[in-house]
Amino acid sequence: METCNLCQEQTKKTHRGKPHQDLVKVNEPRVFTGASPRGYEEQDYKCLDCDSKFTQSTGKNDLAWTLWQG
Ligand SMILES: [Zn+2]
Repeated sequence: METCNLCQEQTKKTHRGKPHQDLVKVNEPRVFTGASPRGYEEQDYKCLDCDSKFTQSTGKNDLAWTLWQG
């Protein structure tokens, strides 16, 4: 399935970017605590429109929004 325009835009958003209107949360956030002063979280999302899957990470060294190609 083609990645919809909103999902293509989503990949460019920053750590403060909000999920677009058709992205819904999948599962519970994964919380990582450890070496760095502050832990970080990952949250999975799925697009209701094109079925793309994203992971949002608050980790400074990670991409904010990672698109998983199907
Ligand atoms: Zn989409």
